[in-house]
Amino acid sequence: MTTLTVEANNLTRIYGGREAVSDVSFTLSKGEVLGFLGPNGAGKSTTMKMLTGNLAPSKGSVKICGVDMIENPKEAKALIGYLPETPPLYREFTVDEFLAIAARLHGVSSKHIKVAVQRAKERCGLTEMSKRLIENLSKGYQQRVGIAQAIIHNPMVVILDEPTVGLDPIQIRDIRALIKELGGEHSVILSTHILPEVEMVCDHVQIIDKGKLVFNGSIDILKQQRHGNKLVIGLNNPPAHDVLLKVAGVESVETLPNGLLRVRYAAGQAPAEALVQAAVKQGWGLHQINPDQTSLEDVFVQLTYQDAAA
Ligand code: ADP
Repeated sequence: MTTLTVEANNLTRIYGGREAVSDVSFTLSKGEVLGFLGPNGAGKSTTMKMLTGNLAPSKGSVKICGVDMIENPKEAKALIGYLPETPPLYREFTVDEFLAIAARLHGVSSKHIKVAVQRAKERCGLTEMSKRLIENLSKGYQQRVGIAQAIIHNPMVVILDEPTVGLDPIQIRDIRALIKELGGEHSVILSTHILPEVEMVCDHVQIIDKGKLVFNGSIDILKQQRHGNKLVIGLNNPPAHDVLLKVAGVESVETLPNGLLRVRYAAGQAPAEALVQAAVKQGWGLHQINPDQTSLEDVFVQLTYQDAAA
């Protein structure tokens, strides 16, 4: 049986008469990593703040592991670890001191604080940094401290708001690996405006634009949209387009500037095998055949701007 860890129902937040977040509903199950994706100003942070009980919704409700955030905020919040966009770090403390404070604030009992700090440091690769002042750590390590404080009380749900912004590529790689690992034990919601990050880290994705969810599905569905019924074919002796159009399933053919051919086919068809057979039989000199991937950015633009284009 899947355990629902987050239930967001019709979440809406109005600022000055405008809906910053509009009727957002979704669920998250134990062990899932959900990517919450959208351009700047889309409503990601506002949604995160409502999910974590830091902002009251104008309409709608949030349940964490079945506990209602409005009716039982203390109990619901105890089930969440949150890393806001700006990490709440006390920079003049050492890593150990700060994490001990965070443990206390999250209600970890005195006798368990030492073990909780030790475990969070191990999971976030911070053990070597225990005695260092936070202000002297690199941004990547400061972000690890931010994640460590979010998981110090071993919450069911970990919510991370743009955790890789401002990090260098190596730090980004490390933080992404850490997030993926967290998904094993916790449910994770990761807000980001970076599409490849979602593809690397998440198994589920939601795209928000102008406060509304425009996509909600598995990462595989998003990837399928990228593959979108197109093949790129390289032929040494290409035949005329109308010869290719006779192959079962092929709907259109275009020659790309680099000499390769882009073949579109109808949904549900798989003409690759027939194309290979025809190429061999008719001596077209096939040297390449690949799915033509729409970049995630293109999918994102299609999804978020389809209203504007309509
Ligand atoms: P994101 O995190 O996706 O960048 P936000 O949730 O921060 O987006 O913002 C969504 C919208 O709500 C934006 O148009 C923003 O200007 C507006 N907004 C956010 N916070 C406030 C606030 N405290 N008062 C008024 N408008 C706000």
